[in-house]
Amino acid sequence: MSAHARVVVIGGGVAGCSIAYHLACHGWRDILVLDRGELTGGSTFHSAGLVGQLRSSVALTRINMASVDLYDRLATDTGRDPGWRKVGSLRLASSGERLRELERQAGWARTFGFPMTLLSAREACDRFPLMSPEGIEGALYMPTDGYIDPAGLAGALAEGARARGVRFLTGVGVTGITVTRGRVSAVVTAEGPIACEIVVNAAGIWAHEVGALAGVTVPVVPMAHEYLVTKPIEGVERGFPTMRDPDRLVYFREEVGGLLMGGYERDPAPWGLDGIPGDFTHRLLAPDWERFRPLMESAITRVPALAGAEVVRLINGPEAFTPDGEFILGEAPGVRGFFVAAGFCAHGIAGAGGVGGVMAEWIVEGRPSLDLWRMDLRRFGPQYADRALACGQATEVYSTYYDIKR
Ligand SMILES: Cc1cc2nc3c(=O)[nH]c(=O)nc-3n(C[C@H](O)[C@H](O)[C@H](O)COP(=O)(O)OP(=O)(O)OC[C@H]3O[C@@H](n4cnc5c(N)ncnc54)[C@H](O)[C@@H]3O)c2cc1C
Repeated sequence: MSAHARVVVIGGGVAGCSIAYHLACHGWRDILVLDRGELTGGSTFHSAGLVGQLRSSVALTRINMASVDLYDRLATDTGRDPGWRKVGSLRLASSGERLRELERQAGWARTFGFPMTLLSAREACDRFPLMSPEGIEGALYMPTDGYIDPAGLAGALAEGARARGVRFLTGVGVTGITVTRGRVSAVVTAEGPIACEIVVNAAGIWAHEVGALAGVTVPVVPMAHEYLVTKPIEGVERGFPTMRDPDRLVYFREEVGGLLMGGYERDPAPWGLDGIPGDFTHRLLAPDWERFRPLMESAITRVPALAGAEVVRLINGPEAFTPDGEFILGEAPGVRGFFVAAGFCAHGIAGAGGVGGVMAEWIVEGRPSLDLWRMDLRRFGPQYADRALACGQATEVYSTYYDIKR
């Protein structure tokens, strides 16, 4: 193992792979990605893979648009198909208030050219005929959304990075970070230290622990998130758009002729607050049917065919949430050269392409081209070292994920 690298990226999930890829595209060399387990063995491998671009802020919507722009050309660029399916998406309004929210969002998103159409209930059902039209006031249709194979995405980004000279080492965990006169100078591993100029903490649900190694508070909170996958259902077609019914707290997409359905329960489950088990790599949590039941009941009222469907599996995996529901990006205020990209609040696959781009700009040019203050690590004061505070707020963010933002 080389004892020096210009940049050490900690974490080989979609975020770490994307940042390494974009840094290499900027012409940077001597980049090393370290992962304590296998690439994608954190949250990435068990993600549902939906890629929705429209979010509650302009900056995040633009980041997600940059992701789609990248996913469109990644197979050609890297020679590896990431499994990108640009099937479009529907976002339903199952209440008058939600319809007004969608109209507001459509208004501002049009100002920067995000493609979308406002549909009637009938038009929405034509695109997803298994849906009951009951209570639908309207829907937004976004033709450039879709879904992607999360491990395929990370694999393609890693391939593109490798082709530009990035090195990847798996099974090597970072156990210490050396800071010299306010600047990061090395990472410590069981194989020995690696001197470096820049460290990127892209450690997902471990980002809090990795931050602590450098004395930096990264208030991510692992939260258990669930979705189920059914066997083929008659009438489900491969070209179905993804569909979200935020008033019912659920989302759907097609999966091998059946449906994948998940959502954000009102009673969330933080996990691993006393430390994540050392052997937790490429692992899931036990399915929690009791917690999932209200979402299942709610989903059946929108897609009645689910009631008779055979469930193949219920996936339950941890994901990094933050106290305000925004990503955590940027350079640590007290430790120069120590960057963070974590806390993706269950939309890290949608964000990965764009996040890699803005993080590479931040590292190479000293600042990103977008105003990212709402996602900047520096927005959190020292009080966020208190895990109970971070956990309480992240739990509230999760339980109100789909609520109308005013
Ligand atoms: C059930 C579920 C469904 C989801 N569905 C969607 C979806 O539909 N759409 C969407 O956009 N997002 C979704 N997400 C969220 C998405 O999967 C995550 O946001 C994304 O995968 C996070 O990627 P990451 O690279 O930040 O973290 P991870 O994939 O967790 O990668 C972090 C890596 O860091 C490594 N690491 C940690 N500590 C160390 C250390 N000390 N030294 C070396 N390596 C270390 C880990 O081994 C790990 O591989 C979902 C998440 C879950 C749990």
